Amino acid sequence: HHSGDLLILSVASRLNSLVHPSDLLGRLGGDEFALVIQQNLSEEETLAYVERLRNSLEKVFLVEESEILIRASFGISIFPKDGTSRVDLIRCADTAMYKAKETGKNGICFFREEMQSEILRKIDFEKKLISAFKNEEFFLVFQPQFVISSGKLRGFEALIRWQSPDWGMMSPLKFMPLVEEMGLIVPLGEWILRTACQKFKHMVDHHQIEDAIISVNISVAQLEAPDFVPMVSHILQECGLKANCLEIEITESVLIKSFEHAIQILKQLKALGILIALDDFGTGYSSLRYLQLLPIDTLKIDKSFVDNIDNPDENKQIVGSIISLVQRIGVSVVAEGVESETQLDYLRSAHCDNVQGFLLGHPLNDIEVEAFFAQYSG
Ligand code: C2E
Ligand code: MG
Ligand code: MG
Repeated sequence: HHSGDLLILSVASRLNSLVHPSDLLGRLGGDEFALVIQQNLSEEETLAYVERLRNSLEKVFLVEESEILIRASFGISIFPKDGTSRVDLIRCADTAMYKAKETGKNGICFFREEMQSEILRKIDFEKKLISAFKNEEFFLVFQPQFVISSGKLRGFEALIRWQSPDWGMMSPLKFMPLVEEMGLIVPLGEWILRTACQKFKHMVDHHQIEDAIISVNISVAQLEAPDFVPMVSHILQECGLKANCLEIEITESVLIKSFEHAIQILKQLKALGILIALDDFGTGYSSLRYLQLLPIDTLKIDKSFVDNIDNPDENKQIVGSIISLVQRIGVSVVAEGVESETQLDYLRSAHCDNVQGFLLGHPLNDIEVEAFFAQYSG
C-alpha cells in the first residue's frame, strides 16, 4: 500500500506539471484521476494535450528504488455535447475510458454515442443470458465421431445451443465468451456436464452401444473452480457412467492462465480414469511442448488444418506428420471439421485414428439422435 501511495503521488505530480493553470486536476479515487479542461480546445488540441499526459506517464517511475512501468487509459467527454451535468460527463468519460482500455490501442478514447448503446446492449445480453439459464433455453446437441479404420462410432461431442426467444438460435461462439466473463460458466458448465452424461448414458443403454465416449468442452474458469474434480466424479456416479467413457476437452488457453494448477487438476482427472483431449490444435501456439507437458490422451486437430488438405498450395504432409508424431507419444488423434471425401481419404492414408465433421454427421438434437441410431448399426 505504501509503495502504491508513493506511485500515485508521483503520477499526480507528473500530470500536474503538464496541466494548464486554468484546468483542474483531481483524483476520483483508487487509481483514477479526472481532469476538467476549461480552455476552449478543438478535438485535435484536446487529443494532443492528453497525448502529452499519456506520454509523460509512459516513462519509468522510481518508487522506493524499484523501477515501475505503468499504462494509463484516458476517456474524454465533451461539454455540452456529451452531457451538461457533472454526473453525466464523468459517466461518459468513464465509458470512453473502458473502451480505451479494451481496445488497448493508444489508450485514449473520445466518448461516442454508440458506446452507450453498446453498453446497454451488453447489459441486455447479460440479463437475457441469466434468464436463459433459469428458463431452460439452453440445450445440447451431439456430434458423432467415428473410428476411421472400422467406420464404427467412437462417441459424441456435446455442444451447447441457445434457443433465444428474442434472437432465435445462437452460436456458442457468440455467447460463451460472455458467459465466462459473467462467471456463469461454473453453474452452466456443471449443467452441461450433467446433461451430457445423463443423455449419453441413456443413449448407449437404450441402443446397446459399447465402448463409446462422450466428449465435453470445459473452459478454464471451470478447471479453476475449487470443487471441479469432486463435482465431475459425483456426476459420473450419479449417472452410472464409467470414468473412461468421459473425455474432457480443454484448449491450450488453460495453460496460458494457470499452468501448474491446470496440470495438477488434469492429473487428478486422469487418475480417476477420465480421458483428456486437447482441442483446436493448430489455432493457437500449438506448441509441441504442450503436448509433452499435458497429460493428454487425445489431440483434436483443428478444422483449419483439415481444410488445408484440400488446398493444393499447402503442404498437407504437415497434417500427416503431426498425426504420426503425436501417435508416437501415445496420443490418439481426432480430426475435426472433416467436410470432404478428399480430406477423409487423406486422413485415412495418414492413419488418423478418428474423424468428426459434417461429412459424417452434423451435431444432432434429441430427435435426430434417435434417427441416427435407427440408421446406424455398430
Ligand atoms: P469446438 O469444441 O472445437 O467444437 C467444434 C465446432 O465445430 C462446433 O461448433 C461444431 O458444430 C463445428 N463443426 C463440427 N464439424 C464441422 C464441419 O465439418 N464444418 C464446420 N464448418 N464446422 C464443424 P459449435 O457447436 O458452434 O461450437 C463452437 C465452439 O464453442 C466449440 O468449438 C467450443 O469451443 C465452444 N463450445 C461449444 N459447446 C460448448 C460447451 O458446452 N462448453 C464450452 N465450454 N464450450 C463450448
Ligand atoms: Mg470441442
Ligand atoms: Mg475444436
